[in-house]
Amino acid sequence: MSATQHINVPPENHVKVLGGQGWVGFIDMLGSEITIANAARVSFGKMKTTMEEKDVALLNYLIENRHTSTMEHVVFTFSIHCPLFIRGQWHRHRTWSYNEISRRYTEIDMEFYTPDKLRVQAESNRQASLADADFEDKELRQMISDHNQASLKLYNDLLARGVCREQARGVLPQNMMVTFWGTVDLNNLLHFLELRDSDHAQWEIREYAMAIKQLIKPYIPNVAKYFESKGQPW
Ligand SMILES: Cc1cc2nc3c(=O)[nH]c(=O)nc-3n(C[C@H](O)[C@H](O)[C@H](O)COP(=O)(O)OP(=O)(O)OC[C@H]3O[C@@H](n4cnc5c(N)ncnc54)[C@H](O)[C@@H]3O)c2cc1C
Repeated sequence: MSATQHINVPPENHVKVLGGQGWVGFIDMLGSEITIANAARVSFGKMKTTMEEKDVALLNYLIENRHTSTMEHVVFTFSIHCPLFIRGQWHRHRTWSYNEISRRYTEIDMEFYTPDKLRVQAESNRQASLADADFEDKELRQMISDHNQASLKLYNDLLARGVCREQARGVLPQNMMVTFWGTVDLNNLLHFLELRDSDHAQWEIREYAMAIKQLIKPYIPNVAKYFESKGQPW
């Protein structure tokens, strides 16, 4: 059974990333753009079900003036299939709620990320990397793939010799793919997208941030339009 089947999200609700090795799935959503306008007008006791032009204007005002609590009433749940090192970065976002398949319980579905292209280390910024089309990486990528497989073999050998899963997993590499659910409100999601769809973020997590934008745009078109109008790609 593949990780995709395991999570049971219809293919149309998935966006593939990392050359098809990872993905984000849209699981569920609470509220809509009109919820944001309703939250802003709650003190007037008014409730609407469809967006009109003045609601869009209100929405823009709320984002512009950082009336962020109104956006906390809209909530998204995603399933994410990503390498362990990206999960580490993602889980620093404490305002999300997470659940993950545990390697203490299962050894099925093991997959490992092998980058399609290796980047070179930037000299000026220790956190940055540079895409260099001339960088000869074929042999290096093969070495990564071999290492992934050797780690898996060691893990399986340890299990076969009776070692418990919770200790054996220590030999699995950062390239191991993990799958988790993440739930977050729109305000904190926008914060995540600002930080992670950015030149400063690692390319891999940026792919996921862009995939999330693609998945949620149909549900929050005016929010997306607001950011596009400020020159921020959505
Ligand atoms: C490009 C980049 C490089 C990074 N490099 C490093 C690094 O080298 N080392 C490292 O350790 N981390 C690094 N980080 C992680 C970073 O420090 C944050 O932990 C991460 O981006 C989550 O941001 P956040 O805390 O704003 O988000 P969330 O945890 O989602 O929080 C959202 C907001 O809620 C509020 N909040 C949440 N929890 C608290 C709290 N306990 N107290 C007060 N306010 C709270 C804050 O206003 C916060 O901005 C990096 C992040 C990026 C984007």
